[in-house]
Amino acid sequence: MSATGLERERQAKPVRTLSLLLPLGIGAGLSISLGILIWKGFFFIFSWIGFCISLGNFISSKSIDRDLGRRICILLIAPIFLVFFGVLQRENMQLEETVFYGAYFLSAGIFTRVLIHFAIAKVFGPFIWGRGFCGWACWTAALLDWLPIKTNRPIPTAWTWLRVPVLFVSVLIPFALIRQGYPYLERHILGDSGQWIQTHKWSQFLWFLTGNGLYYVLAIALAFIFGKQRAFCKILCPVSLVMKAQTKVSLIKITPSGNECTHCKKCNRQCPMDVDVESYIGSGAKITSSECILCGGCAHVCPANAIS
Ligand code: SF4
Ligand code: SF4
Ligand code: SF4
Repeated sequence: MSATGLERERQAKPVRTLSLLLPLGIGAGLSISLGILIWKGFFFIFSWIGFCISLGNFISSKSIDRDLGRRICILLIAPIFLVFFGVLQRENMQLEETVFYGAYFLSAGIFTRVLIHFAIAKVFGPFIWGRGFCGWACWTAALLDWLPIKTNRPIPTAWTWLRVPVLFVSVLIPFALIRQGYPYLERHILGDSGQWIQTHKWSQFLWFLTGNGLYYVLAIALAFIFGKQRAFCKILCPVSLVMKAQTKVSLIKITPSGNECTHCKKCNRQCPMDVDVESYIGSGAKITSSECILCGGCAHVCPANAIS
């Protein structure tokens, strides 16, 4: 290794250590603050999420398959949303349900866990970590990233606009039901207070099963039809649109490392979200695309180590 290479390597080590520990630190910070202020269960939940992301980074730094750690991480986080909240607590974190909880907040002033999740993962958190939720914690993508699909075909831009009417319908259905007097409070929100296993809120549970079932079926079908694991994220997922504006200005971004880009475009072929990585890195710019999910795939395959 040249003297410049060694120097760069020396400077990179603290950065790497920081990227390993930062998620754990953010998770611990959220655990302590929200655990004390709101609900003691957050002590475990945010610590676990932070730990899984740090573990994923660590595994990827040691493994030949550089994406393995992230895929393990996203798989370890999914049971929190699907089993703990979805099945045991009967709290559905999907977009449609969030509208009911939003209405509850407006009428009663109570900011529940579903809204806390939405606010942290999808509204305010993205000002810091962009669409990191999509890359590291989404329970739908937890399955998609393990599908046996070797191709990564780009999705034509025209298809990606379908997300707009899907977002509109996802919000409009619960909104229209509320307007028509649907008893969402009894059926979706009020349960056995303080119980770890809820036995009420059957309607919410049915919406949880139906909504997630529909997402998984469509997501798997689209992945195989389009030859791309993340086709659903590009074509149908309405949640992606909620995070886009904040992602543009988020603090954490994929950046050029300082090494020269050879314009081989391996990064573009690897990117699960069809970001034109080469055009950013090749011109020495950070990736500001609102489609970037911080998966790190481009950096893993770059033969010139031009991405950090
Ligand atoms: S785009 Fe939607 S399905 Fe894809 S990872 Fe993000 S939230 Fe999950
Ligand atoms: S893989 Fe690396 S060297 Fe190749 S185009 Fe992308 S950034 Fe440049
Ligand atoms: S630009 Fe890189 S980090 Fe962002 S989604 Fe594409 S491969 Fe992942």
